[in-house]
Amino acid sequence: MKISGISVWQITLPLHEPYRLSGGRLVFESLDSTFLRIDTDARLPGWGEACPWGNTYLPAHGPGIRAGLGILAPALLGRDPLGLDTINRIMDLTLPGHPYVKSAIDIACWDILGQVSGLPLWQLLGGEQADAVAVNSSISTGTPDAMLALIATARAKGYKVHSAKVGGSSVTRDIERIDILSASMLPDEKVTFDVNRAWTPGVAVQVLNAVQARDWIEQPCETLDQCAHVASRVSQPIMLDECLQSVQDHLTAWKLGSCEGIKVKPNRVGGLTRAKQIRDLGVSIGWQMHIEDVGGSALADTAAIHLASSTPEANRLASWLSHDHLAYDPVAGKGVRNVGGFVVPPSAPGLGVVPDQNLIGEPTAVYGHAR
Ligand code: MG
Repeated sequence: MKISGISVWQITLPLHEPYRLSGGRLVFESLDSTFLRIDTDARLPGWGEACPWGNTYLPAHGPGIRAGLGILAPALLGRDPLGLDTINRIMDLTLPGHPYVKSAIDIACWDILGQVSGLPLWQLLGGEQADAVAVNSSISTGTPDAMLALIATARAKGYKVHSAKVGGSSVTRDIERIDILSASMLPDEKVTFDVNRAWTPGVAVQVLNAVQARDWIEQPCETLDQCAHVASRVSQPIMLDECLQSVQDHLTAWKLGSCEGIKVKPNRVGGLTRAKQIRDLGVSIGWQMHIEDVGGSALADTAAIHLASSTPEANRLASWLSHDHLAYDPVAGKGVRNVGGFVVPPSAPGLGVVPDQNLIGEPTAVYGHAR
């Protein structure tokens, strides 16, 4: 089988309401997503989506994906999409780094592999059955009362796991906010406090040694070294997210003893192939993992949930759904959807989501020959 064409769409995804994190210094109102279809000489198209969370959350941005695809696509035409490791090596040789550019290509190749083999991705990724995955909310930063109101709304939709965005305010305010939210959890609920790198190590050590809460603390500081410094001086389990890009970063995180858990996000690390390598490393060394994507529609969410569902329950924490924040649904109800706090990945062969082309319109770029 050979790749005959790669078509690319730019899709603007407005959020229901402005979203704030890292103490409110980062504000998001819409996402710039890239949809991608790989056509083959076997007439089996595969779909992928790549969507950074705005321009300020990671060293990644929507126009960068489409610029990078202009470099990668010519090198991939005529290659076999089923050779996923080879496809990834070609991408790394053609454009070193820039993992966020590569994830939609990699996911589309997995979609084709699934369709050719007649198997859903959760099975190809190692699962025995389509396990339901708990979903977790994402609570925009604000006053304790404003955040409690958002938690109540999420609770009404079935969410029992919450990711509360903190940091960036005064030490006293963060101590107060963390303890109020932690104490508000119902017996069957959990909360993670996601600092989104807003604290210096000194502030992190001060806050975390003052609070009563022993919930997960996520990405307290900017760098891996700073987070490792904090992890050795506090009692809470540490989860890492933004500072992990490559497989090597994850090995360093393990060697430094910097965390007990990680976020595994295909768009941040370069697609499902790399995310699976990292998930498998995490299972081997005993990390607990939230497996979800950086952003995007239910298409990107579905790819991540296939990987989450195939992950052993002992290592799997809840998954966030980006599409839950969107005011526009370009896949028209397809893919994973929250039902009472859980999602189940599709069992159709491949990814199991095909965008409605009436909704997404004409591609913004076509390399090779579109179907
Ligand atoms: Mg995070």
